[in-house]
Amino acid sequence: MAHDHHDDDFMGSLTKNEALVYSALKSAGQPLKAYDLLDILKSKGVRAPMTIYRALEGLEGKGLVHKLDALNAYVLCNHDQPHQIQSFLVCESCSNVEEIDTGVSATPSVESNIKAVVAEKGFRMEAARLEIKGRCSRCA
Ligand SMILES: [Zn+2]
Ligand SMILES: [Zn+2]
Repeated sequence: MAHDHHDDDFMGSLTKNEALVYSALKSAGQPLKAYDLLDILKSKGVRAPMTIYRALEGLEGKGLVHKLDALNAYVLCNHDQPHQIQSFLVCESCSNVEEIDTGVSATPSVESNIKAVVAEKGFRMEAARLEIKGRCSRCA
């Protein structure tokens, strides 16, 4: 579950659609797909999938939302600092997703080591994601 640290300070810097998507993700408290968001936000006048994708992209860029490739869904970030390396526990039984702190992004030497190796390949990294799959404590 997301903490409240990203709240109001950030809201001012969001576009109207980003704020709508952010609030929808926050009240859902779980990962949502772009089409779930479209359903939820229809009543607010959001009609085009592109609008949702653009807002999600903006929120990702601000480090407030992460995309989960495994589920093709989006969640609110759980941490105080924007970070490029993200770690998630993904339960394959109930689809519960929890963002965890593996210490990778909190350990500057590890993060910069990864970035250095990636940069050596001439690759421009945008984000790295560790999706740890298995069963959560309730499903195990
Ligand atoms: Zn995060
Ligand atoms: Zn589970």
